[in-house]
Amino acid sequence: MASAGANAVENKNFNYHVDRFADIEVLRYEVPEFKNLTLNQKKMLYYLSQAAQMGRDIIWDQNGRYNLQLRQLLEKIYLKYDGDRNSKDFKAFEKYLKQVWFGNGIHHHYSTDKFRPEFSQAFFEERVGKLHNCCLPLNPGQTREQMMAELVPVIFDPSVMAKRVNQDGTQDVVATSANNLYGPGVTQAEVEEFYAKMKKPNDPTPVSYGLNARVVKENGEIKEQKYKVNGLYGPAIAEIIYWLDKAKGVAENDAQKAYITKLIDYYITGDLRLFDEYSILWAEDTKSDVDFVNGFIESYGDPLGMTGSWESYVNFKNKKSSERTEAISSNAQWFEDRSPVDPKFRKPKVKGVSAKAITAAMLAGDAFPSTAIGINLPNSNWIRAAHGSKSVTIENITEAYAMASQGNGFNEEFVIDAPTRKLLDDYLYVTDMLHTDLHECLGHGSGQLLPGVDPDALKENGSTLEEARADLFALYYLADPKLIELGLLDNPEAYKAEYYKYMMNGLMTQLNRIELGNDVEEAHMRNRQLIAKWVLEHGKKKAKGGKDVVELAKKGGKTYVKINDYAKMRELIGNLLAEMQRIKSEGDYKGGNDIIQKYAVKVDPKLHKEVIQRFSTLDIPPYRGFINPVYTPVTDNAGEITDIEISYPENYVEQMLRLSRDYSPLTKKSTKSCSAK
Ligand code: ZN
Repeated sequence: MASAGANAVENKNFNYHVDRFADIEVLRYEVPEFKNLTLNQKKMLYYLSQAAQMGRDIIWDQNGRYNLQLRQLLEKIYLKYDGDRNSKDFKAFEKYLKQVWFGNGIHHHYSTDKFRPEFSQAFFEERVGKLHNCCLPLNPGQTREQMMAELVPVIFDPSVMAKRVNQDGTQDVVATSANNLYGPGVTQAEVEEFYAKMKKPNDPTPVSYGLNARVVKENGEIKEQKYKVNGLYGPAIAEIIYWLDKAKGVAENDAQKAYITKLIDYYITGDLRLFDEYSILWAEDTKSDVDFVNGFIESYGDPLGMTGSWESYVNFKNKKSSERTEAISSNAQWFEDRSPVDPKFRKPKVKGVSAKAITAAMLAGDAFPSTAIGINLPNSNWIRAAHGSKSVTIENITEAYAMASQGNGFNEEFVIDAPTRKLLDDYLYVTDMLHTDLHECLGHGSGQLLPGVDPDALKENGSTLEEARADLFALYYLADPKLIELGLLDNPEAYKAEYYKYMMNGLMTQLNRIELGNDVEEAHMRNRQLIAKWVLEHGKKKAKGGKDVVELAKKGGKTYVKINDYAKMRELIGNLLAEMQRIKSEGDYKGGNDIIQKYAVKVDPKLHKEVIQRFSTLDIPPYRGFINPVYTPVTDNAGEITDIEISYPENYVEQMLRLSRDYSPLTKKSTKSCSAK
């Protein structure tokens, strides 16, 4: 296969911008080099994309028990609306529907707060009143009145299902979270007791308990409803299996065939041992170009961090850019041996970190429309230790973000001076990419726990501290001459671009994502503020001439980050990395909680207000996500596939409505076709 360069934009006129509403911008991403793949590879990507899209309903239902019913009802109203589409109520209704599509349900994908509709309840009731009974997504035996009695408060009462994931450790996080991973009436204590009984003490290879099940209470008894073909989400899982089986038929090699078979067996049985076996085979396959994730994977949607949200990434290797990640991963031991942490916390032998840059071909489930730019899987600790992990940087998504941001005025507003802006223009793209590589492929995998330390010892702070550790590792080595020696950077000053952006983001600009008066909650945001504030405080008067290493400087009444001593800043990053690794290795809950409470949570209200005000003059959305390309098989007279065509014809609304129409195995039966208004 011919390979794509880091900036292989096929079409300079590619239109990245798709839609803009509320706090969201929707983009499209290009799939460079798809046309140059072999027919078999294209077929495989097509089948895997079908398998990916067939899971869409699962994440909607996991996110909240009314989401699927509500989506159908909202879409019916939208399609059948015969009034003025420019009226205030309809515009507000459309905005709400777009938000619900983006959140895969009624909660914000990031803050997990419930959306607030800006149309009236009267408008909603009137529009539902105009729909025939046969158009309504009624549950079996449900009347129109019963449906409305349930759904109206779900939409309009802010206190009902207020937050999808509540992480306030002073409350029952299960009972107060609105997600559908736990049935009605189940408490945190009951879930914890249920799994504590199931876990075997000192099991060196534990399965990921609770990963693929909803926990419910039946006649006072706690039990699991497994996600499997003859269980919960069966119709969607059956479709996923059908397309995975097709993909298996065009797999690139036997190793890939073997892990697809395991994945199918796991979807059939729900057996988590099989999922572990699949994960091991998948992590060890580094030969295939086409690759994918499809399953219940990340557990951020569960306040207890156990149940996996359904997601899929379908992708193929970007060979040119993978030279970069391979240079890093093949030197993993070099980096580990020199990491600025206590030697007893270092890994004596780093286990197979495989790393590659990929081109995303389809995003689905929890990875759509909002997506990550880097992934490192599997998540199971013992599998990572014994069999290694696969780390990827999603190149074409990173590129789409960068291309879509050009000329948006952000740097002019927030970067302190012209030389610093030039530094960012020249080096931020490449150092950002390297930061993701280092974070995913070395950061998360570095270090070791002391013997006997419980991997869950840091509890609700685990995610934040782990992200901080990986970011610090990446930042520390971004400034290392080793990167020049490996040919990954061509200028020893380049790292300063990422350092500046990191401090500006952690101290200031990320606050744009938070509503005035609120604290920082999300794990990645907490981690960034923790690092930035810690460095700010510990660098006071430590630079040459008694200056601060980093300061918040005033210019023309506005606040800017000013870095006076980059070399010293790197030293501080090394110091904090050492402390983070100690907390993780020793399982020091109190140490971790203290540092989070001191640096990661609280916001300076004056600065917060200033940041939001300055953003408001720019019209830069706080959140972005993507729609997917469309893949169309070309067949000959015998019905054989001769090619797969890729195109980008849709806008956001068109894509969402098509997905609901063609990829909704869990809702198919409940809406009959209806020609009446
Ligand atoms: Zn991470």
